Amino acid sequence: MQDIRKKINFLRNELHNHNHRYYVEDNPILTDLEFDLMLKELEELEAENPQFFDPNSPTQRVGGSITKSFKSSSHRYPMYSLSNTYTKDEIIKWEERILKILGNDITISFSCELKFDGASINLTYKEGELVKALTRGDGLKGDEITENIKTIKTIPLRLKGEYPKFFEVRGEIILPIKDFNKMNMQRAELGEALYSNPRNTASGSLKLQDSSQVARRPLKCFIYSVVGDELNLYDQSEVLKKAREWGFKVPNSAKLVDSIDKVFDFVKYWDSERGKLDYEIDGVVIKVNSLNHQDKLGYTAKSPRWAIAYKYKAEQAATILQGVHFQVGRTGAVTPVARLKPVLISGTLVKRASLHNSDQIEKLQLRLGDTVFVEKGGEIIPKITGVKESERGDLIDKLKFISNCPECNFPLFREKGEAQHYCKNENACPPQKIGKIQHFISRKAMDIEGLGGETVAMFYHAGLISNIVDLYKIKKEQILPLEGMAEKSANNIINAISKSVEKPFSKVLFALGIRYVGETVAKKLAKSYNSIDNLISASKENLTNTNEIGEKIAQSIIDYFSIQDNLKLVKSLQSFGLKMKTLNNHNYNHPEFYNKRFVISGIFDAFSREEIKNEIEKLGGILVTSISSKTDYLVAGKGIGPSKEIKAKSQNIPILSEKDFNNLKSS
Ligand code: AMP
Ligand code: ZN
Repeated sequence: MQDIRKKINFLRNELHNHNHRYYVEDNPILTDLEFDLMLKELEELEAENPQFFDPNSPTQRVGGSITKSFKSSSHRYPMYSLSNTYTKDEIIKWEERILKILGNDITISFSCELKFDGASINLTYKEGELVKALTRGDGLKGDEITENIKTIKTIPLRLKGEYPKFFEVRGEIILPIKDFNKMNMQRAELGEALYSNPRNTASGSLKLQDSSQVARRPLKCFIYSVVGDELNLYDQSEVLKKAREWGFKVPNSAKLVDSIDKVFDFVKYWDSERGKLDYEIDGVVIKVNSLNHQDKLGYTAKSPRWAIAYKYKAEQAATILQGVHFQVGRTGAVTPVARLKPVLISGTLVKRASLHNSDQIEKLQLRLGDTVFVEKGGEIIPKITGVKESERGDLIDKLKFISNCPECNFPLFREKGEAQHYCKNENACPPQKIGKIQHFISRKAMDIEGLGGETVAMFYHAGLISNIVDLYKIKKEQILPLEGMAEKSANNIINAISKSVEKPFSKVLFALGIRYVGETVAKKLAKSYNSIDNLISASKENLTNTNEIGEKIAQSIIDYFSIQDNLKLVKSLQSFGLKMKTLNNHNYNHPEFYNKRFVISGIFDAFSREEIKNEIEKLGGILVTSISSKTDYLVAGKGIGPSKEIKAKSQNIPILSEKDFNNLKSS
């Protein structure tokens, strides 16, 4: 027993360290596979020895807990705001106020830091273990989001080195811009409304009820302060250094300077460099470095006197709202787009801005002719952030959201609790019909070379195609007369279309454009159900029991196949030879492999794990992940977890080395 406990502790320590190396230092020494194997081994040992449960074990980072409503809890030390300024003048005045309190003969140094733009968080550590995470809330009380916070890998669950017995750290949870854009691209692909900016997405993510969902969001945490009664720390630059030593992520952009002029240098430097950061900042924070001085300066009702934020102005301009049009997307989502008098913002001419949805129009009470403020942040499309009250358009020109689809006149629908309006006339609304075909031919779907989105629209408007099946009926003679078509391009298109029938089932499934069925989900479904017929006859319960298929996706699949036209469409595609089944490329069914259940563990010399898995499937074997009485073989490579081995032996399951495996194949 003692040995198992030791082993568990050893693995936890190792994994905490490797996690830190990977996420905080960006300097891993293990391969992902090695890390995963170690984690798996720990998972197994913990499952078999529940008496050694530890809420801060590295295995707890995957999440899984569901919080219906977050408990509100008081901050031990209030979380103040920062006083803000946009001018150098006020920073000079701030220094004067400080000197007045501390005495004019004192030299002050300043810690200059970036003001990370995310959601603030307060983390409590007791004996080096994370015990609580609170949002800022109103500064006095916040929400307990500990389980969600544990999934963020830049936050240590257990600290390194020597630390105070009890203390709290404060930091900002951010979502890197690149990851934000990636999330939005995936949402666009699924036809879901886009997130508006990284900050809101980060703070929204923290309040998700399912912590395993939070685990999937690429959030990071940057620490900027430490609070407590017995810290034995003397200045802010030391605070940052210590926090880093304890295992927190503290960007090394902070700089200690000894004059206000140098503060201004820092401000200026980051104003021009901030675009190069992979996360958003909205300014810099200047703090009196000495904690002793900070104590003397104290707080106003709202903010510390020892710190001030200098905010960068968002790239903004005022211009006139000339019109609005309503765009209907592939999924029927209706987005209002403002037409603006062209204006230059950070070097680009802006003519349009997104108004997101009807709530936004209502909120701003927009009228045609209004002078509006337009901002260009990290997002791709600029947005309208406000109206200049002194230059309003006529009341009579107040913008109204439409009630019918601008493309097909179908009444628009708005789901309860959702901001977006939809045209649900999906099989007859032109942009939705064209969008579906464009999605079908796109690179990640059927990848029909030579056929682009615009050509599809042209074919549609020429009356040659009205759905995806029509693509397979097109004749060369029909497209040749169209603008820009030459013999060669027409040939290429026809050939590419007829070749596309070879694409695997998972691609076809994705290409159908079922709502919420993205590329990954399509692959999962193809693998679990093997054929479209199985999928069509799957019940909702069936679907939700499939790994990673949730309620929303399941319902969408059921809805899709309950429409007769869609079933007909699938049948027609099938008649043109498109693959509606996962082909099993068994070479043959090897008698020692056919229908036998294999568990793989460890690393192999001549094969990657993927290769060995493919090999087994090719020969007719079945792969399972955990050992049970039904397992026929355990294939054991290097570094296999001892628990697996013990389990296999106790159940008399043959253990194959890599060599045994090869022998079995050639038997
Ligand atoms: P504000 O919300 O404008 O009052 O600004 C205060 C917030 O700025 C704090 O609650 C923090 O979440 C955030 N912040 C970001 N970076 C820093 C930093 N380096 N030091 C202090 N606060 C920061
Ligand atoms: Zn419509």
